[in-house]
Amino acid sequence: MSELFSLKGRVALITGASRGLGRSMAKTLAAQGALVVVNARKAADLQATADEIRAAGGKAGIAAFDVTDEAAVIKAINYIVEEHGRLDILVNNAGIMHRQLIVETKTEDWKRIIDTNLNASFVMAREAAKVMLKQRYGRIINLSSVMAILGRASVAAYVASKHGIVGLTKTLAAEIGPHVTVNAIAPGYIRTEINTVLQQNKEFTAMLEGRTAAHRWGEARDLDGMLVLLASDASSYITGQTMVVDGGLTTILA
Ligand code: NAD
Repeated sequence: MSELFSLKGRVALITGASRGLGRSMAKTLAAQGALVVVNARKAADLQATADEIRAAGGKAGIAAFDVTDEAAVIKAINYIVEEHGRLDILVNNAGIMHRQLIVETKTEDWKRIIDTNLNASFVMAREAAKVMLKQRYGRIINLSSVMAILGRASVAAYVASKHGIVGLTKTLAAEIGPHVTVNAIAPGYIRTEINTVLQQNKEFTAMLEGRTAAHRWGEARDLDGMLVLLASDASSYITGQTMVVDGGLTTILA
């Protein structure tokens, strides 16, 4: 059974891996045997993730680029294929948040969120898909959110971007099977720097803990099982899906 979940010999690229979920998921993929190329905008921010992977006996590479820079994305994916011979797993994780009511939100802020969270995932997936189709193997994993199921005041662009990820995931899955699968993970509230404001809000935390069967905030490690499933051979008959990992948040009213 462990063979089914092994990532030995696989080459993975994960965006936004300098901190938070990306950093944690990079370490998990490496622990399962993948060579993991970690991305964020600055190489210096990625050194700690790469060092941790290597210290644990794993293999890591660094590819610093802005995911919204199309030319840089194409160059990086070409470089990974030249350097490592293939690209088996892409995790589109880089994402940003903007908290403001719609009536106060500037168009440029809306566009910035959609650009990073949705448009960049399209470009990354398109370029990775070309490689994966040729090698007749691939796993694309997009980070969506419970904000693709629920709405919430003050985060309209984020909510729209995460709904968009669900559509991109389904459509890409329809186009690039059967050897390449495309799925999304929709995490609930996982403790990282993106939601520091909410972690400090006692009312929000009480509401969250009351609404989840798990009665707690999520931790990055809570995504490990779903990540490894979707990245490995174990998910060869799963594609186009958005897998919710939220401690029950979206299925329980109170
Ligand atoms: P985070 O803010 O801690 O980390 C985001 C990462 O993305 C950082 O490494 C940052 O440097 C990188 N990044 C941002 N813009 C980039 C760009 N233009 N180019 C390259 N890298 C860039 O956030 P997180 O909580 O780790 O979130 C990771 C992903 O998971 C995001 O897509 C987020 O929307 C999603 N998500 C998070 C939660 C949560 O509760 N933490 C819940 C649902 C979905």
